[in-house]
Amino acid sequence: MSAPADLLAIGAGPAGLTAALAFKRRNPAARVVVADRMGEPGAKLAVTGGGRGNLSRDIHPDDLVRAFAPSDRFVAPAIRAFPPTALRAFFRGIGVPTVVEPGGGIYPASQSAPAVRDALAAAARRAGVEFRMGAAVCRLEPPDSSDSIETTDSIDSSSWRAYFASSPSPLAARRVLLAAGGQSAPALGSDGSGFALARALGHRIVAPVPGLAPILVDDAPWISALAGVSLPDAALRLAMPQRLLRESRGPLLFTHRGLSGPAALDISAALSRALAHTDPFTLYLAVLPAPRDKFRALLDTLRRTDGARPLRRALAPPLPQRLADAMLSLAGVPPDTPAARLAAPAADRLATALCALPLTVTRTATFAESMVTSGGVYLPEVHPKTLASRLHPTLSFAGEILDVAGPTGGYNLHWAFASALLAATATARS
Ligand SMILES: Cc1cc2nc3c(=O)[nH]c(=O)nc-3n(C[C@H](O)[C@H](O)[C@H](O)COP(=O)(O)OP(=O)(O)OC[C@H]3O[C@@H](n4cnc5c(N)ncnc54)[C@H](O)[C@@H]3O)c2cc1C
Repeated sequence: MSAPADLLAIGAGPAGLTAALAFKRRNPAARVVVADRMGEPGAKLAVTGGGRGNLSRDIHPDDLVRAFAPSDRFVAPAIRAFPPTALRAFFRGIGVPTVVEPGGGIYPASQSAPAVRDALAAAARRAGVEFRMGAAVCRLEPPDSSDSIETTDSIDSSSWRAYFASSPSPLAARRVLLAAGGQSAPALGSDGSGFALARALGHRIVAPVPGLAPILVDDAPWISALAGVSLPDAALRLAMPQRLLRESRGPLLFTHRGLSGPAALDISAALSRALAHTDPFTLYLAVLPAPRDKFRALLDTLRRTDGARPLRRALAPPLPQRLADAMLSLAGVPPDTPAARLAAPAADRLATALCALPLTVTRTATFAESMVTSGGVYLPEVHPKTLASRLHPTLSFAGEILDVAGPTGGYNLHWAFASALLAATATARS
């Protein structure tokens, strides 16, 4: 019988690998095992950032923390202890120099996410971490559990028992780190089974919904006709009567099925939640992200100062011509109408189409098409300064399994690494 592991990390994604490596570095004599249901570690990490791996952002740690609102207070200890400068130093230390791209994204200098995954896994192996691949954990029994299904007394009752779908013998471990991710892109490993493990241990799970997913807009053929058109700056607003629920702003892409790009991805989780209560839901699109009334006043000025100009020319630029024509058509304004001939009701309709166009949305894309899962282990049941469970002192969490989801652009990987380091450091001390 082998000795119980000092730490079992469930999930060899960025969080599990980083935690296993950090724990082993702090306790070189410890037995650290990382188990993953997939045949290779970090399958998802290897495809991030379009295969280039957007690891973090070169911004002030306070801004990084704020981007995680409403979970900002929870993520603060982990991110402050491991800001972007520390992340870059950590990766340099395992042979992955990084670069900052003009938009602020931190990427490996090799531009290769698989190389990041390989370096992380190799560093963990070099440090002496044991890998169990193809090992899906299907049941976890806490120490001194009264409902043990283990029939022999080979495992002392002060250890955790992890049962694998592929093997009849459980693994004993003194501490467990659950880093099994969410349930987005399940073909890459995280299939939601981590939530089931946490729930079986008594943790509440905030209902998972797809986050960072494209928005599907049915019955809007004008959108599919614009497929491929993109805007550098647009806004989407999710609002109830009298209440703005969420706003996102940034680049937007029209697709055959709806909207994508950061502005759409960043609002998708809030939209998924809204749709769970109210279906369909109205989303307001501003292809010109200015207050509607301000733009309406601008149209009046245009009528007076440049009245001979056809409206389709006045709008493009700043808009791409195809989009300007589509907006005029939605507002019921013939595209070649000279600005001076724009009647007040038509100007009202045009201002609405450009700055607050209502779109009826009935669904967002599925988990399979989403990049992160919003929802997960309920944060009040986890200590933010150690990421240890408040229900089981020798259980910790890291990464996407927690009810933490950041916007697109490196925030989620930063959270995976930072939370793993905090959990590992605190666990190694305990
Ligand atoms: C296509 C795509 C591109 C992305 N690009 C970026 C990007 O550029 N930048 C960014 O910041 N974020 C990006 N993300 C999000 C980012 O990949 C995740 O937030 C991050 O991988 C989460 O890390 P994690 O370790 O918590 O979970 P995961 O990476 O999901 O790893 C969890 C691991 O646990 C294993 N596992 C699950 N259940 C069990 C079980 N029961 N037993 C054993 N093992 C189990 C899984 O096989 C998996 O390997 C992207 C996501 C996708 C899908």
